[in-house]
Amino acid sequence: MNDYTSDLITKASKYIPGASYYTLGLNYPGLPEFIIEKGQGPYIYTTDGIKMLDVTLAHGSLILGHSNKIISEAVQKQISMGTALTNITKPAIELAEIMVNTIPCADKVRIVNSGTEASILAVRLVRAVTGKEKILKFEGAYHGFADNLIFNTNYGKPSEWFPYPKASSDTLGVSASQAETVLIAPYNNLEITSRIIDENIKDIAGIIVEPVMRGINSQTDFLQGLRTICDKYKTPLIFDEVITGFRVSLGGAQEYFGITPDIAIYGKSLGAGYPIGAIVGKDSLMRYLDPSSENGEHIFSIGSFHSNPLCSTAALYCITELQKNRSYEKLNSYGDGLRSGLSRIFKKYELPHFMTGLGSIVEFFFTSEPVIDYKCSINSNLALKDLIGSKMAEFKVVGGGGRYTSSTMHGKRELDWMLEAVDLSLDNAQYTGALNSILEKSNK
Ligand code: PMP
Repeated sequence: MNDYTSDLITKASKYIPGASYYTLGLNYPGLPEFIIEKGQGPYIYTTDGIKMLDVTLAHGSLILGHSNKIISEAVQKQISMGTALTNITKPAIELAEIMVNTIPCADKVRIVNSGTEASILAVRLVRAVTGKEKILKFEGAYHGFADNLIFNTNYGKPSEWFPYPKASSDTLGVSASQAETVLIAPYNNLEITSRIIDENIKDIAGIIVEPVMRGINSQTDFLQGLRTICDKYKTPLIFDEVITGFRVSLGGAQEYFGITPDIAIYGKSLGAGYPIGAIVGKDSLMRYLDPSSENGEHIFSIGSFHSNPLCSTAALYCITELQKNRSYEKLNSYGDGLRSGLSRIFKKYELPHFMTGLGSIVEFFFTSEPVIDYKCSINSNLALKDLIGSKMAEFKVVGGGGRYTSSTMHGKRELDWMLEAVDLSLDNAQYTGALNSILEKSNK
């Protein structure tokens, strides 16, 4: 580490809590080992001048890679015309049009600044529409950091959780009364989920689900089963497409699986690295965001930067770019290549594993059992996954153990780089004995 970097980290320790923006379920990950100074395509450059392959990509947001020229030029043009223009803006109108033409459930669109904001609005909307209060979410799902859904996420401590459907908060600082408004069900388990819904339907305002839950795939019939239950009870179904939206296909997971929710929320890839969120949905619900709605049937939603022209421009050009150049073919083939390459390496080290994820969302777990819900994932050998994660930086890869993403800028060279890094991480762990020690511990 050069002096410049160590000075920056010292300064960060002085002025930023923990010198980190990761709280990761309240675990302290230690001081950063490097600081990213700039990004270009699939790579980042640290303040030490080291080039690294980025497979984290701002939590999966940079679907076109870092500093995409077309997006940068469009945003720069918009900067010269104003960065915050208040109320609806031309780029946000054009963005809404392209989203309505692309996303199956979208009759109307509202642009906000993050996935968390979109999820706050989605919850308020379904409560307003139904006049009910409880939201059913799935164990291990994350829908942003707001108070209303920060329960039983993948950042929590499952050993301390209550049994279904009682919600357990994952952070200090959330009012206990919030927990009373959330119900928890196991992912991919229609039997338990429908029992919870049947027993609580008089209070349920909506069901929110990640169509691919943090890399764990939804099983055939699960999403369809939720759709059928929601139709039966006329309960709004919300897809959280913050990860899947514009990543698994242009119309998101709802297009990929052919199941249309009533509302969907977006973020990440939509903005190609610019801070954006969106809530889209059927007219019958989105009319609650229309201030001219009759009988005062509307909800409060104002943000100083909503409909922001810079981020809307980035999103507009991002979607236009994704429509071109066989983007999804490229993203999916990289993802499939990574999934099969990782599996080949894990077999070489005789590590039982389960590969999951969809297209360019690549996830794996060390276990002989299929991973279909959050409990299965935490019962896998997470220490081994962490071991790989902890070594990747040594081999010039930014991105820990699992849920790797890619961009349209990731090609064969990057795939080889990535696979070599995982192979070398395991080879090194085998050589030092770290691999055996973890395997022995997990056999006890
Ligand atoms: N939903 C999902 C599925 C997410 O993965 C995230 C972010 N990791 C969010 C919502 C929150 O989005 P943001 O970080 O933009 O607030």
